[in-house]
Amino acid sequence: MATSTTATSPESSPHTLTVSCHCNALRLSVPRLPEYLNLCQCSICRNYGASWAYYDTHEITVLSPTPAASQDQRSAGLDAEGTRKYVWGDKNLAFTFCETCGCIVYWWPLDGSDGVGVNMNCVEDVEALRFVERRVTYDVAKVVLEGVYNENGPLRS
Ligand SMILES: [Zn+2]
Repeated sequence: MATSTTATSPESSPHTLTVSCHCNALRLSVPRLPEYLNLCQCSICRNYGASWAYYDTHEITVLSPTPAASQDQRSAGLDAEGTRKYVWGDKNLAFTFCETCGCIVYWWPLDGSDGVGVNMNCVEDVEALRFVERRVTYDVAKVVLEGVYNENGPLRS
């Protein structure tokens, strides 16, 4: 992209980012910077240590493993050979990791709804995210820290 991005907000900036697991078996790209990164503190995300960015499903391009041409992106791309899924609780999300190196790279909805969470700790160009807002959310974890955090992060100035 040769266009200037200095005057645009992060959510509208065209900026292709590549995300990959440590061994590069599992790679995908997204077309823009995330609006923010969510350091979700729910029980599983805290364990994963993930920094989630949220994208529409159509924004995700799976680069590796190569999806089979006869299958749609959801079944062949996000649920690809070489990946493993962890599904728990309401069983509506598939946390997907590389079966070789174990890195958690994304989650996708099993109920047919739109949206993918991408773990930006796996982004290749780390510096591209240096000005993206970090939020720490506790609402899913049901941790009550009234007056300190809300769903958008720290309230203290
Ligand atoms: Zn890997």
